Amino acid sequence: MNEPIYVTKPTLPPLAEVLPYLEQIWNSRQLTNQGIFHQQLEAALCEYLGIQHISLFANGTLALVTALQTLRITGEVITTPFSFVATAHSLLWNGITPVFVDIDTNTLNLDPNKIEAAITPRTSAILPVHVYGQPCDIKLIQEIANIYNLKIIYDAAHAFGVEDNEGSLLQYGDLSILSFHATKVFTTFEGGAIISPDKKTKTRIDYLKNFGFADEITVMAPGINGKMNEFQAAVGLVQLKYIDAALTKRQNIDAQYRSMLNGVDGIRCLNTNYIKRYNYSYFPIIIEPKYHSSRDDIYAKLKSQNIHARRYFYPLISNFPMYRNLPSASYENLPNATKAAISVLCLPIYPDLDPFMVEKICQSILEK
Ligand SMILES: *Cc1c(COP(=O)(O)O)cnc(C)c1O
Repeated sequence: MNEPIYVTKPTLPPLAEVLPYLEQIWNSRQLTNQGIFHQQLEAALCEYLGIQHISLFANGTLALVTALQTLRITGEVITTPFSFVATAHSLLWNGITPVFVDIDTNTLNLDPNKIEAAITPRTSAILPVHVYGQPCDIKLIQEIANIYNLKIIYDAAHAFGVEDNEGSLLQYGDLSILSFHATKVFTTFEGGAIISPDKKTKTRIDYLKNFGFADEITVMAPGINGKMNEFQAAVGLVQLKYIDAALTKRQNIDAQYRSMLNGVDGIRCLNTNYIKRYNYSYFPIIIEPKYHSSRDDIYAKLKSQNIHARRYFYPLISNFPMYRNLPSASYENLPNATKAAISVLCLPIYPDLDPFMVEKICQSILEK
């Protein structure tokens, strides 16, 4: 049997380029706590992403949990059920009640037209996700937040490097978070970040991720340990040199999939043409009911050929035991998300994926 093909495979820089960084860490004995590589990576990411302030984290989930703490969010938060489970878990870790709102059928992002009906006196924020790196309806979400005086935290875990006509997607809302997990386009093995609009907010975040320490003897809040260590930061610094080349390769794979699958009756590829700069982080297809095979049959068939596509995002977050009894978790409230969860399939996409394999995957999907 062939080597297994997974939905993603981390692209690593040459080991030889990482070793001098390790040597420096070993020699300096500076292992963590805002060391030199941590500082360098923050500066390099601000420059690359076109943003002002970033705080690095040990992972994206801690960044989400801390972002909610930063803005002192309480009560209820409006969010999407069509995401990775960490989005809603970050709310439960803060004692906040998630309120699920349905998604838009084209983008699979939170439907801004359904947000208003879900707002109550307890609502304090909106937590939308740029799913697969596609921009949410930023303008409309901001307008609603302004009217009801709500904060916005974007879960931008998929949106590294994505830009609209105004620049980085990470500049919107009150805060955005990134993930640098091994499965993401830019990885530090585990890692994450919060992007903030001003120095004052960044300072608060930096205290919160370090137990709340403002200086040696002052603890200003019950912070957590969310710090990124020097090894992770070093991996990030080297990785960043290769990110543009990686995105170009992803773009080529995306184009190859589209040339074979776009326009096939019963299969829908998401439209990302309108995005100024996309990152090709995922390649989701929607298998419509009229297609000759069901989503799960295609998933199983590919698996039997050792090709491991993923049903991101199935089940919906709202179907997991800790969420399903919430009033907003009902099927009636989430018809589009429910449909998306049973019809989406994310195909393998990563820089080193062989074009021959892409062709094989498409043929498998297309033949009856
Ligand atoms: C990956 C991911 C996270 C969590 O990030 P980790 O770095 O794995 O903790 C959060 N939200 C979304 C949408 C993700 O895909």
